[in-house]
Amino acid sequence: MDTPVAVITGAARKGGIGWSIAEQLIDSGHRVVVADLARPMETHLGYESSDADDLKLAANELSQRGEVVAVPCDVRREEDVQALYAAAIEAFGRVDVAVQNAGVAVGLSEITDLSLEDWQLNLDVMATGVFLCAREAARIMIRQGSGGRIINMSSQAGKTGTSHLGAYATAKFGVIGLTQTMASELGRHAITVNAVCPGVVSTPLLEVEGGVFDVYPRAFGMDPEQYKRRLLRQIPLARFSAPNEVAAVVRFLASEAASFITGEAVNVTGGQEVH
Ligand code: NAD
Repeated sequence: MDTPVAVITGAARKGGIGWSIAEQLIDSGHRVVVADLARPMETHLGYESSDADDLKLAANELSQRGEVVAVPCDVRREEDVQALYAAAIEAFGRVDVAVQNAGVAVGLSEITDLSLEDWQLNLDVMATGVFLCAREAARIMIRQGSGGRIINMSSQAGKTGTSHLGAYATAKFGVIGLTQTMASELGRHAITVNAVCPGVVSTPLLEVEGGVFDVYPRAFGMDPEQYKRRLLRQIPLARFSAPNEVAAVVRFLASEAASFITGEAVNVTGGQEVH
């Protein structure tokens, strides 16, 4: 078989989970398409998503490890997602692994303070975006007729709702429902569909203004260090995860070793989430 090809969204931020997934899939023998927004988000101009320089850096640095193509893509837009997969086919001729990783940390507030705009952005990026990318990947994999791996980034918040995460948790719960549905529909094509549920991972997502380490300390009247110590007490392994520890699970789910695993939502939470 040709060298397998993986498409990963939200992968242009150095230090993020997507970048680490790209590294590990390259190292395990994949050609990789790295996709990211690469421009300001028109409805949330202050939000620190990736810019064009991030995507260029990802293309340059990651291609030192293997074959990489970088494509700008807003996962909320159907035409962008179709163009992303067209670019993958044009560059590499096939798609074997699709990782739906793009995400935002916006609208961390109690429901009574949550704006419709912030609610909508969460659902657009992390529910609709996953649907559009996974659907496009599935169509291509079915046409190819040689199976495939669809891996959707959910979260611990996709299993247990908690204060200030109403919009985020709703999207991430949705990802698990979509994952189970697609697993049952695509099994006959030898395509596995799984979700990954990280806990607290040290990435830029947590540090942005309005992110976890900004909002929760203020909500609980603590300074950020005090809040982090409190959070660590809730994690049996007593530390936050590194992005590569989440990427390792994606690498496993994309591998031959995971050939009989589908419809799962795998926790990577240091024991904080056990169901
Ligand atoms: P990150 O901010 O480093 O990565 C998210 C990426 O998604 C960014 O590169 C961003 O530019 C991109 N993105 C945002 N909107 C997009 C859009 N419309 N189209 C395309 N790309 C878009 O954060 P991360 O922590 O690496 O998050 C990766 C995934 O892991 C997310 O889905 C997140 O919800 C999930 N997650 C993270 C944690 C954590 O603690 N960091 C925990 C659980 C789940």
